[in-house]
Amino acid sequence: MLNQFTFSEILRKNSLEQKNWGFLFYQNKLLIKTESSSTSIPYFNSELFIKNNSSEGPDIKSFTNFYISFGMLKGESCFTGVLDSKEFMNDLNFEENVRFSFVDLRELALLVDKNMWQIASIAFELVDWYQKSGYCGRCGSEVFLSSFQYAKKCPSCGYLDYPRVSPSIIVSVKKGDKILLAHNAKFPKDLYSVIAGFVNPGENLEDAVKREVNEEVGIEIKNIKYVASQPWPFPNSLMIGFTADFDSGDITPDGREITTARWFKIEELPKIPSKISIARHLIDRFVEEVIKKE
Ligand SMILES: [Zn+2]
Repeated sequence: MLNQFTFSEILRKNSLEQKNWGFLFYQNKLLIKTESSSTSIPYFNSELFIKNNSSEGPDIKSFTNFYISFGMLKGESCFTGVLDSKEFMNDLNFEENVRFSFVDLRELALLVDKNMWQIASIAFELVDWYQKSGYCGRCGSEVFLSSFQYAKKCPSCGYLDYPRVSPSIIVSVKKGDKILLAHNAKFPKDLYSVIAGFVNPGENLEDAVKREVNEEVGIEIKNIKYVASQPWPFPNSLMIGFTADFDSGDITPDGREITTARWFKIEELPKIPSKISIARHLIDRFVEEVIKKE
């Protein structure tokens, strides 16, 4: 759950409060401020000058394509936007121990708490949606932020375009004291994870779990149970996590998405995803369960 953050009722373009947390992206990386060894999201005033403890930095308005306010954190406004240049970085030398830099969301996860990471993820998803939804999908007219809900509206045909969330299932399948892990062709070398995939239109979550496992590794499963969910901003998934038990069949990777898959005992686990992911949460949960039984 998000702590001390609330979504705005509507998105507002190019309008800022007095004090603002600025989630600004340049080529998909977020601008952060590092002071001594702690990382934070930079602060901006309503004129879009970076605020510092005692001084103000350069006006970066001329470096942004657009910015939108999307919520409140600890009573102060949050905005996000995209920078088309980072030349202003040359003027960001306030004090010796303060440094500004750009990090991607995976790197950010190691630098800030989970709450701030999630808010940065929301910002990332919003700018992704904002940039991709310039024109109406129905009639082709230019669309604008709605004045009454969190969406864009077409002035010609009235079509409303909401920020998209794509549900995906993710499932850890166990067989006694072993867990099913698979290597996806898109993963870094030697990384293994649990099975995941998008939900099809008209499909319920349990059916999506069964279908994905069957399609990707050719086995049947049973006892599908919901565990937890996680927004996953790459770029707009909502991961819905399950556990299940092996039922029947032999592991047969589809050879397209999944190149190898097998059952692993906890003492022989391969390289697995990082702590920020729900995949890792499911694997850790399985490990704990086995340890408890021993
Ligand atoms: Zn339209």
